Amino acid sequence: MAVEKAKTINFMMDEMWKWKMMEEKFDNMLKLYDYHEIHLPILQNRSLIQQGITAFMQREEPDFISRQTLNINNNKNPENQLSLRPEGTISVLHRAATMYRKGDIFRYYYQGPMFHRNREGVAQESSQLGVELMGSSNILSENEIISLGIKLLNEVGFYDATLKLNSYGCENCRREFFKDVDIELRTNADRYCPNCLVELSANPFAATHCENKNCQHSLPANLNINNYLCAECKTKFEQLKKIQANLGNIYKVDPNLTKNFAYYNGTVFDFVVKNQDNELVVGGGGRYDYLSERLTGRKIPAIGFYLDLDLIFQLMKERNLFLMFDNDFSVYICTQSPNLEMMVLQIAQELHSQNIITILGTEENPDNNLKQAQAHKCDLMITLREENIREGKVLLYNLEHKEQSYIPLNRILDTVQVVRKTLKK
Ligand SMILES: [Zn+2]
Ligand SMILES: [Zn+2]
Repeated sequence: MAVEKAKTINFMMDEMWKWKMMEEKFDNMLKLYDYHEIHLPILQNRSLIQQGITAFMQREEPDFISRQTLNINNNKNPENQLSLRPEGTISVLHRAATMYRKGDIFRYYYQGPMFHRNREGVAQESSQLGVELMGSSNILSENEIISLGIKLLNEVGFYDATLKLNSYGCENCRREFFKDVDIELRTNADRYCPNCLVELSANPFAATHCENKNCQHSLPANLNINNYLCAECKTKFEQLKKIQANLGNIYKVDPNLTKNFAYYNGTVFDFVVKNQDNELVVGGGGRYDYLSERLTGRKIPAIGFYLDLDLIFQLMKERNLFLMFDNDFSVYICTQSPNLEMMVLQIAQELHSQNIITILGTEENPDNNLKQAQAHKCDLMITLREENIREGKVLLYNLEHKEQSYIPLNRILDTVQVVRKTLKK
């Protein structure tokens, strides 16, 4: 398989802790909501994937969608051909369907790389968090999932996260809408480029990203699902907006909210944060009540969302949000005399056993050791010198208060713990 130029974040060591911290914050919040982490295979059966991502498209197996997956071409038998997963919902549904009993509610999440080819055919890798709530069509489940998404973004420091909401309607209201879309695209075919014609007729909710000057790119404004919603879908959408407003989540109704998979119905949403004057979509999702029956034969109403972890990570760095969270207490320990290395290791071991982050200094020059301790944002620096050790003491430097003192060798652990408490870490 040729991955020509994958767009992916390459981590340096000093970034890894930040990524882990972001993941940990998400994990903790998801646990509070009783969501369970699951692992999904990266290699997936190609025909199941194709069937899933083209489900409910208005044409049979649209080619342009099939071209977007990254395929492993090592098996002649189509049954055994594999693709790198482009998303997670399809395989979660297949798994859930094998154990689902009516009345069950499954709350799952997963994270990891997803793969696709962009419009130029270039292979892309992106990291996503996927969250799914399966088994409920209740309005509460919708509000739970949407509020959870906002909560996750708040948790990593995006207090400005807002929502874009729309409704794609139920089977009944969509039927009329799709019929009129079909008429529009046939009677006014000359207003669209060939790509947009294919993409919009397969999925009227898609963003075609077309730049052709002779093409109008999207359906006319009045040809919008919002004008086709049945009474029940309208009421549900009103209820959802009311609950979200009561929860204090800021939303905008966006009648042009696009989704590239056609399997969504009812409530769809995007999570948005501001970046200078732009609004950036950092995730989104919606209901997919009909997808399970189409793929697995079992009716499982469901709703879910994804978060674009690469983009969120990038924005967290730009906004210096990691500094806010970087409050781990840590100790730097070094020696200025030869033959004391063993003692340094023993003290470090003792501190580690108390769950205190301890960094071993390897510099010979005292100034360089101090620079290292500062670079690691350590709270304390312990320096061992032969003349002090002979008197049974070590040098302790408090980097925050810029104070130094000598402490007895046998009181190192106690003293460090006391400082830690005063720093409330
Ligand atoms: Zn409806
Ligand atoms: Zn076009």
